[in-house]
Amino acid sequence: MQQTFGYPQFRGLQADIVANAIAGQDALVLMPTGGGKSLCYQIPAIARQRMGHGLSIVVSPLIALMHDQVRALHEVGVAADYLNSALTMEESRAVETRAWRGETTLLYAAPERINTPRFLDFLDALHQRGQLALFAIDEAHCVSQWGHDFRPEYRQLTLLHERYAGVPRLALTATADAITRADIIERLQLQEARVFVSSFDRPNIRYQIVEKTDARKQLLRFIEDEHDGDAGIVYCQSRKKVEETAEWLCMQGVNALPYHAGLSAEERQRNQDRFLREDGLVMTATIAFGMGIDKPDVRFVAHLDMPKNIEGYYQETGRAGRDGQPADAWMAYGLADVVNQRRMIDDPHSPASAEYRQVMRSKLDALLTMAEAPDCRRQRLLAYFGEQSAPCGNCDNCLNPPQTWDATEAARKLLSCVWRVQQKSGIGFGAAHIIDILRGKATDKVHQHEHARLSTFGIGADLSEQQWRSVLRQLLALDAVQTDAEAFNTLRLGPAARDILAGQRPIHLRQAAPRQERGSRRPTRPASGRPADQAAQALDAAASARLADLKAWRAEVAR
Ligand code: ADP
Ligand code: MG
Ligand code: ZN
Repeated sequence: MQQTFGYPQFRGLQADIVANAIAGQDALVLMPTGGGKSLCYQIPAIARQRMGHGLSIVVSPLIALMHDQVRALHEVGVAADYLNSALTMEESRAVETRAWRGETTLLYAAPERINTPRFLDFLDALHQRGQLALFAIDEAHCVSQWGHDFRPEYRQLTLLHERYAGVPRLALTATADAITRADIIERLQLQEARVFVSSFDRPNIRYQIVEKTDARKQLLRFIEDEHDGDAGIVYCQSRKKVEETAEWLCMQGVNALPYHAGLSAEERQRNQDRFLREDGLVMTATIAFGMGIDKPDVRFVAHLDMPKNIEGYYQETGRAGRDGQPADAWMAYGLADVVNQRRMIDDPHSPASAEYRQVMRSKLDALLTMAEAPDCRRQRLLAYFGEQSAPCGNCDNCLNPPQTWDATEAARKLLSCVWRVQQKSGIGFGAAHIIDILRGKATDKVHQHEHARLSTFGIGADLSEQQWRSVLRQLLALDAVQTDAEAFNTLRLGPAARDILAGQRPIHLRQAAPRQERGSRRPTRPASGRPADQAAQALDAAASARLADLKAWRAEVAR
């Protein structure tokens, strides 16, 4: 590392990972973007070649990434090549010849190459001569459909294990929650591999999540107040919104460019180059932009629309502040986002399996929980990746703690109600029924099951239905209550219920926004067609749409 790369020392887990690979062992490496994953396989590749083991193959999903890495390796005098669709037949042959002669240390290959008969023959021949030193599988989350960037070609990489037994494999990724991690291990058959998990903390990034009122204006104020003249990325969900937002920002005097998959290849390249080279540009983009972009001084990443899950959020916000200087991750979040994301997951026209939808729903829920949480954002984010930490003191919630109310007693009431209902009737019931019992509503169902006789009947009349839902949402997130998907989403106690019932775990909830009673005080007048009335009607329509969304959302969350 010192001789070739000129770095004085290893960072974090690099030394252990390198030693493990040099010794010929498999590993799964989870390390955040910018953590230094490349060295983890580049150094073993150099070392193992010197030990006589031959060539290392690096599987990488993006041509641009390969080019950058190979160029950087050439600069430090390491023999590296790549094979991808950008090469002519002749160039590919030349690359293979060099590798065959033992002149190459690292060969980068696109995943779809791996399954071509020609390339497999080539690998087979090397393997027979004992000249395959290592397989590095970069961006390994691409193998999992639970990951945020599934690439079917990655599935074929299973054959490496079967066909080239004994050649060590190193799978590396910057994001993988528990379920994706398990999936990578299974798909790549890394059950025996050591798992190295670095801290995912990016201490220089300040996380802020604001409630959406007028997202564009909020964004503009954020940029003007805190990032005037800085380089940043603004993520939007649709191509149309990308274009509109870029245009609008330009009109407001912000130097913005669009980027999405619908633009021509040249325009995308041109905008990307400008973003990398010039100072203070704001890239307005869909998530098509970003992977492999190594611009150190991105000072903010803003989300005008909520990502699908925490992995996406972490990955996208992680593009800010790679130079270690203070940077902001800012997101505007509203009910419409939630409704949209749910709709996409539940879209009956999509071919997604029930299992897939279920996983996506729970991933989205985790992001919602984080967005709604009154406590440290960073702590929540890290906890999602299995990391314990103390409140950071540098996120919006740490800096300006939101108003909360103590819901500990309410949580205990709810839990005992779930318990008593189950005891009495021998079966579980859904959220709405439990809340009816708590609020003392004598519905038909309550009568039918004689639930008005329960000691918990009416003990929660002091709270609104909305408040109960928020308590329940929190308890679901904490795993104190679980839903039984097999039995109509009925509620039952979860493992965390005990501590809460015993009063050992205080629960604080973000104060619900004051409820908007829709126009009830306003005297009703016949519509006269005057502009003021039209405006009032439009407002009413917007309010009912919002209310409908709110109801749909609550129903979803309650389920
Ligand atoms: P990742 O693939 O994990 O996102 P990279 O491998 O691209 O990260 O490394 C990010 C940056 O950190 C690169 O500029 C790399 O040269 C630098 N780097 C990696 N390891 C070290 C180290 N031990 N000391 C100094 N710089 C390092
Ligand atoms: Mg990398
Ligand atoms: Zn914090």
